Amino acid sequence: MNIIEERFECPYCGWTPDAGMENIRWEHCPNCLSALHEYDQEENECGGELEPISIWVKSRREGEIIHRCVICGELHTSPMTKYDNPIKLMSLAAGPLGTPAFPVERMQELLDLMGGQGSMEGWNREPRE
Ligand SMILES: [Zn+2]
Ligand SMILES: [Zn+2]
Repeated sequence: MNIIEERFECPYCGWTPDAGMENIRWEHCPNCLSALHEYDQEENECGGELEPISIWVKSRREGEIIHRCVICGELHTSPMTKYDNPIKLMSLAAGPLGTPAFPVERMQELLDLMGGQGSMEGWNREPRE
């Protein structure tokens, strides 16, 4: 056990707690939501970055961030806190929606199905003489 409490400083984005937040034990950085893979590993500290990959809502009032270690691939969860960056949380939550669920090369076909309204054809046409 380390008696001297070290001031938290995020190794990934450099975030440090504001005054009055020094006693909080940060399981992950509330700014970039990353964490260091060291918890729960007494003998075998990995030291890898636990990258936030998703969030899940455990119960109505409780959500957790799902982390995946970039070195060993272990999955890890960490409860969300009120300090967590809401924009970052939102983008994690929207992750699967942001990835097209259909092949991008079929985009034109889909646009054609939409009645050509989204067609890009006009953009590479030569100007009229
Ligand atoms: Zn950070
Ligand atoms: Zn690891």
